[in-house]
Amino acid sequence: MFKTIAAFDRIGEENAFAVLARATELAGQGRDIINLGIGQPDFRTPDHIVEAAIKALRDGHHGYTPATGIKPLREAVSADLHKRLGVDVSPDSVMIMPGGKPTMFMASLMFGQPGVDILYPDPGFPIYRSMIEFTGARPVPVPIREENEFAFSAEETLKLITPQTRLLILNSPANPTGGVTPKAEIDKLVAGLEKWPDVAVMSDEIYDQMVYDGEKHVSLLTYPSIRDRLILLNGWSKTYAMTGWRLGYAIWPGKLYDYARKLAVNLHSCVNAASQYAGIAALTGPQDEARKMVEEFDRRRKVVVEGLNALPNTSCRTPKGAFYAFPNIKQTGWKAKPLASSLLEDAGVAVIGGPDFGVLGEGYLRLSYANSTENIRKALDRMGEFLSSRKAA
Ligand code: PLP
Repeated sequence: MFKTIAAFDRIGEENAFAVLARATELAGQGRDIINLGIGQPDFRTPDHIVEAAIKALRDGHHGYTPATGIKPLREAVSADLHKRLGVDVSPDSVMIMPGGKPTMFMASLMFGQPGVDILYPDPGFPIYRSMIEFTGARPVPVPIREENEFAFSAEETLKLITPQTRLLILNSPANPTGGVTPKAEIDKLVAGLEKWPDVAVMSDEIYDQMVYDGEKHVSLLTYPSIRDRLILLNGWSKTYAMTGWRLGYAIWPGKLYDYARKLAVNLHSCVNAASQYAGIAALTGPQDEARKMVEEFDRRRKVVVEGLNALPNTSCRTPKGAFYAFPNIKQTGWKAKPLASSLLEDAGVAVIGGPDFGVLGEGYLRLSYANSTENIRKALDRMGEFLSSRKAA
């Protein structure tokens, strides 16, 4: 029998995909399922972006592109970052990736190995830990606390850094909590990092344009003191409702850019050309549809938070970013995963149990409000009925 390496037994998953599969299966059996599980906008990609992809194919862009992405797209990313954040990023530091995830994968491979530590948020996007474990590095969770409005704490993060630490993963606005870390906290973290010049930082800013209540996204790119060790992860999936296009970008500092380019050549060669042309249209075209999506998420956010706070023994902070609510269900007597599973099987509402995002996710559920207000209200009614009538399993 063949013998594979142990790393493959350590690789994790994203349970949101399993919940989506089960929700789809139940719906296929005729059940009325409301899906608040998966993290993808329920909007169509704006038409002018779709048209740009169709035009690219009609114009004959059928072939390979450079592994790092087509130049006009890298230039468009650079111009967009300048316009939005006032930062200068050379198009030659921008690498077009097949979505946001591959940047995590590559960064973990560049830094992770047995004997080193990688810090990541808990609760946080599950792929961070999965990839760290795959490399054999020690995953060191940085606690993300409700009492801190689900922002990360600079002090707590800095205390966890040791000479073994190679990479620090940050995510704001955050999945699964909707937390947005304030500028003062990021200032403090960056100042503290000056003592640790060998620690690289990967900042996952894929929800950067989804912030509410006048909150401003603070990009780690705006801190010159860490620019030479900052990996930035971003992409089109969330902002432009383009999850299925598999289009993202990374900014790699120094020699990491060439490492990433070589990994791309070995792995996927390039991102498909049509998606890249669509990406140019997204960044350089009208932004009103993207803005309208955020306004709609904002309206739903209020509905979801108010509804969750009215449920028996449930409380929910108002998330400041992304499109997730992370209610505290500790007083219901339920553990989060059995509750999520019973809500799907018995009440027809798909949500994700907090432990799917890390051990500190116990006692919480994640609800994605990427669904219509009508469905959100219906789901909340069902959850209310369920919690009022069912004893904890
Ligand atoms: N980073 C975070 C925090 C996410 O929540 C997601 C998707 O859910 C991603 C990255 C991955 O994005 P993509 O679908 O572009 O790979």
